Amino acid sequence: MVDIRRIGDNDVLLVVDIQNDFCPGGALAVPHGDDVVPLVNRLGQRFEHIVLTQDWHPPGHQSFASTHAGRKPYDIISVPYGQQILWPDHCVQGTFGAKFRKDLQIPHAELVLRKGYHRDIDSYSAFFENDRKTRTGLSGYLRERGFNRIFLTGLAFDFCVRYSAEDARREGFEVVIVEDACRGIDVDGSIAATRRALADIAATCVTSDALR
Ligand SMILES: [Zn+2]
Repeated sequence: MVDIRRIGDNDVLLVVDIQNDFCPGGALAVPHGDDVVPLVNRLGQRFEHIVLTQDWHPPGHQSFASTHAGRKPYDIISVPYGQQILWPDHCVQGTFGAKFRKDLQIPHAELVLRKGYHRDIDSYSAFFENDRKTRTGLSGYLRERGFNRIFLTGLAFDFCVRYSAEDARREGFEVVIVEDACRGIDVDGSIAATRRALADIAATCVTSDALR
């Protein structure tokens, strides 16, 4: 059993995509996504090492429904790497929607990892793009820094947090999900599917009060 209350030099907090577009009022709002911000800020005080991820798409990105004539958000299309859900345009590079929430206060974060910048590949995971081959470089960074346990928080629970958790395990890291510091979108039962997937990889799921 991992002792989650002893947070040390080999632990890192990964804060996934807490950006304006994923919060209420944004282009791809996760219901109550902004509720996690105070919790994540508080958790941030417990960690010396923090990585923020930022969804960061060029205009006309393949994952945008508007890029495909006659398609609408949440349609599923086939692309060379498999199936791709189409989303409303979101987190376009340099826009307000792509900025971190102003109330996210983690000035001591050591790395901001941007993802989704290849026009033809989406990237849910912080480790691999959706073709499952193109690496973001995060594994190498974490290994070089000597981190072996990753605490995951952020948006959306059933997409970017889920895929990041699965890839982190595959890459040999220990994974702890801080569930109340995540919120999901729930497309066609994706939250339930995520819970099953996290059980399958034996990720430790906790609530933030366990880390006080
Ligand atoms: Zn995106």
